[in-house]
Amino acid sequence: MSSVSKYFSGLFTGIKSLLTGMGETWKELWTKKVTQQYPENRDTLVISDRFRCELTMPHDENNEHACTSCGICQMNCPNGTIRVTSKTIETEDGKKKKILDTYNWDLGMCTFCNLCVLTCPSDAIKFENTFENAVFTRDKLKQQLNHEGSKMREKKKEVKPVEPKAE
Ligand code: SF4
Ligand code: SF4
Repeated sequence: MSSVSKYFSGLFTGIKSLLTGMGETWKELWTKKVTQQYPENRDTLVISDRFRCELTMPHDENNEHACTSCGICQMNCPNGTIRVTSKTIETEDGKKKKILDTYNWDLGMCTFCNLCVLTCPSDAIKFENTFENAVFTRDKLKQQLNHEGSKMREKKKEVKPVEPKAE
């Protein structure tokens, strides 16, 4: 093949390849879009309820939580992400009682295995599906889950039903 033929052959191959690519681009203009613009779509974004991202300790309107500071979650955590410290106080009737002092969790270490939540006997912690937790330093990923001034919720005494008297 002469050099002129080679030149035109290469030119036509190039044009054909360009048109094939342009054809694909043109088709994509009309196909249904699956990608979304984030964060513009924040209001309509659906995050699965089962998505685990942030461990929380729910507090009620009285700033009370259910943690007894038993430490079971800390023992079951496979990589030392949780640190529970407790303190002993004296109750009004003079008895000694262990209460939660600090509950620390490190989002940067957590593998989101959920073992802590599953093994907590008091249902005191749970995972939220909040996902916007990016920070600039790792230190900010360390969180104290019990709120300032919070205390443990007293368990309500169970009222036993009265047996009807035999006549
Ligand atoms: S989810 Fe797993 S790794 Fe994270 S704190 Fe709980 S037990 Fe530890
Ligand atoms: S969160 Fe649950 S398992 Fe962990 S210390 Fe508190 S009561 Fe115990």
